[in-house]
Amino acid sequence: MAETKCPLCGSESFYFKDAQDEYEVYEFDLKAGDLVFNLEVDESELPEITGEIETYCNRCAWHDKLRTLKP
Ligand SMILES: [Zn+2]
Repeated sequence: MAETKCPLCGSESFYFKDAQDEYEVYEFDLKAGDLVFNLEVDESELPEITGEIETYCNRCAWHDKLRTLKP
């Protein structure tokens, strides 16, 4: 059973950074294992989403590969 929330604080709110531009972030919630992006995110500009994307918790300092949350 995969974690779909932050292992440290239990938050379901995460973001990852654009590989091209670290100031560009894509916020999303994990709902039942699905990525639900923030309304401000333009999904047509999303990078390819793979398990290797470094993902950051919105509430605490946790970060790890996306696949640790969603295999
Ligand atoms: Zn957290």
